Amino acid sequence: MEGLKLSLRQSTFRTEIKIQSLVIGKDFVLIAGPCSVENEDQMLATAQAVKKAGANILRGGAFKPRSSPYSFQGLGLKGLKILREVKRKVDLPVVSEVMDPRDVGWMSEYVDILQVGARNMQNFALLKEIGQTKMPVILKRGMHSTIQEWLLCAEYILSAGNPNVILCERGIRTFERYSRNTLDITAIPATKELSHLPIIVDPSHAAGKASLVPELSLAAVAAGADGLMIEVHFQPELALCDGEQSLSPSQFALLAQQIFALRKFREKEIEKTHKENSA
Ligand code: PEP
Ligand code: MN
Repeated sequence: MEGLKLSLRQSTFRTEIKIQSLVIGKDFVLIAGPCSVENEDQMLATAQAVKKAGANILRGGAFKPRSSPYSFQGLGLKGLKILREVKRKVDLPVVSEVMDPRDVGWMSEYVDILQVGARNMQNFALLKEIGQTKMPVILKRGMHSTIQEWLLCAEYILSAGNPNVILCERGIRTFERYSRNTLDITAIPATKELSHLPIIVDPSHAAGKASLVPELSLAAVAAGADGLMIEVHFQPELALCDGEQSLSPSQFALLAQQIFALRKFREKEIEKTHKENSA
């Protein structure tokens, strides 16, 4: 693919990103949590529930890129302080979205992973600023971006000196209206073919409906995703943002069991094929 250099797969090299004892790109990543940090009680209750179910990273937006300026914009610094406190209490690494290049430095003191949202995928000033750090970053695919455009955005970060990029497929906009977006499963094997970067999938923003999230999650695991990011809210009906696509803790716990079982099955099958091929 023209223009792709650093992210092109070189021999068998695959990017691995270490966050505490977790190695992204090797260990399966299960990120869960609410769309946005609302208050400490909500965050703590959700964090404890998702950790118990097997999530190994906690999510929560403090800066929310809302389509309407009148919608809840997130708690900002207050939200990040809550996230840091909850991280300390439940002992889970945390990820939160950064929207402005001026926030990259100080926000990195509060979170383990920065997230670049779909609407900011081509915010080149933001990408360059993150490239100046070594912060792990989840780069979401723009809702109207091709795989090539997305990988070129990853290159902005990589070429500036930060190797710790995780891609995230979150659905693209198509003519379909039943779901919020259309999950592009092809992006999983395609980015693996074209790059050495780990790829995770966000079925929540792809679906826009909680009822569709379980099957999309399993499809992503079956297609080889390195992880999932799923919105979970302690009381989805009361969520200030994206409640309709958020799972309840019990729905998430049930899904997590299926995810781990499918992942294990897939790993065993791959191992068997490797053995047969090398015999
Ligand atoms: C999010 O993950 O909170 C989010 C806003 O997602 P996206 O950027 O994919 O719309
Ligand atoms: Mn959301």
